[in-house]
Amino acid sequence: MRRPAFLLSALVVALLVGAYFAWRTWGGSASRLLRLREYMSEPDAHGGWIVRAGSRCGTAPFIFPTDGYIGFVRGDSFRPLHRHQGIDIFGQPPLGKTPVLSAYPGYLTRLADWKSSVIVRVPQDPLQPGRQIWLYYTHMADESGNSFIAPDFPAGSQEVPVAAGALLGYQGDYSGDPDNPVGIHLHFSIVRDDGLGRFRNELEFDNTLPLSPYLGLPLESGEAKTWPIVCP
Ligand SMILES: [Zn+2]
Repeated sequence: MRRPAFLLSALVVALLVGAYFAWRTWGGSASRLLRLREYMSEPDAHGGWIVRAGSRCGTAPFIFPTDGYIGFVRGDSFRPLHRHQGIDIFGQPPLGKTPVLSAYPGYLTRLADWKSSVIVRVPQDPLQPGRQIWLYYTHMADESGNSFIAPDFPAGSQEVPVAAGALLGYQGDYSGDPDNPVGIHLHFSIVRDDGLGRFRNELEFDNTLPLSPYLGLPLESGEAKTWPIVCP
């Protein structure tokens, strides 16, 4: 092939590959945003779209930690170079009234400065015995940071045993910025252990695990093609 023709082909291939990856990351997230708006505008008309706290899909090890609509999944992208580390389950108003339950038994920690988050250590990963994992629950406070975490778990709590289904708190809209609250929801993710018995930084996508096998649903971007995301 002559050089200019080769360069042109390479450029076309690069553009196609780029478009494919943009579609994979942005396409799914954008369509999920539209569906979320549809749900939010008329939640009662979309009762079939929600999952129920305490219920379980088939033989999945985890129960659903809260009532609501699974609006975003792991791997969704809200801005360039960002991938969502978990799932977002959107309850209905009023704020601070939709219970959040422990999805699996473990030992709860709430760091001294955590207003809206708890993390539960699971010593034996039910799907990979021998490995320790951590379950992270957040946005359990109002926009000003008034906590909706259950009184059993004051700031500074460490290694408090919790059963599956134990009340952890209530859905909130805390984002860290009072002028920019997120919609009422629970963000739920599985965080890797650092190998020394501590949880890794949840804000980094690679420190989290896919939720799909633990909840028995397609909860990875690209995998979550069917709608709504509820048990078959
Ligand atoms: Zn989230």
